[in-house]
Amino acid sequence: MNTVSERLSEIKAKINEAEKKAGRELNSVKLLAVSKFHSEEAVMEAYRAGQFSFGENRVQEAYSKFSEVYKNTENVELHIIGQLQSNKVKKAVEIASFIESVDRLSLIKEIEKHAAAFNKNIKIFFEYHTGEDSKSGFESYELLKEAVQYCAEGNAPHIIPKGFMTMAPFTDDTEKVRASFVKMRETAENLKKEFPSLDLTELSMGMSGDFEIAIQEGSTEVRIGTAIFGERIYS
Ligand SMILES: *Cc1c(COP(=O)(O)O)cnc(C)c1O
Repeated sequence: MNTVSERLSEIKAKINEAEKKAGRELNSVKLLAVSKFHSEEAVMEAYRAGQFSFGENRVQEAYSKFSEVYKNTENVELHIIGQLQSNKVKKAVEIASFIESVDRLSLIKEIEKHAAAFNKNIKIFFEYHTGEDSKSGFESYELLKEAVQYCAEGNAPHIIPKGFMTMAPFTDDTEKVRASFVKMRETAENLKKEFPSLDLTELSMGMSGDFEIAIQEGSTEVRIGTAIFGERIYS
């Protein structure tokens, strides 16, 4: 099992198995292929195997890689999933159709500013901090709610909120991982009720090491890197 295409089929089969086990509809969980630190060629290999949605966490890397990928593909969708500095927002809005790592109100205002300038609608997830040792995401329910409310009140017309994203703590303790996903799901349910005008149906949770638990807990999108593209080499 070592080509990207073989690994993709293997992971899809595992997602289907987890869906079945959780009593969920088949293919109700979307697969985002996280290609950070992997080449344009690796992305193209996945694309030729039928993968259209990709995740990247660094804007500069995503920008140079996907400027090329877009020239040779159709219907490719790029999601920014890493912490986003304000000075990178313009490029992020230009290259991506989705920003999953929205973790502060000021970022929403910055995204709206650039999306308006490009006359482009951009989909977002609100990222919530649910695990002890991860650092990203809104730190409290109050701050998260304030951001959702800001969008619900129509202050960011080029931003389309689609749901929430979270990262579980990096630990072998599966109960801690599960608790993090449960917290995200329950928080999302509360906010959906509070802001019924928004379409907050998506839950982006689960990575190579914990996607089966995430699917049991209601994930609608798993973000898988290593299990598709292999280990990342950080140089
Ligand atoms: C890198 C990354 C992933 C993918 O991680 P793997 O363990 O390689 O599957 C998922 N989500 C985010 C936010 C990431 O930065």
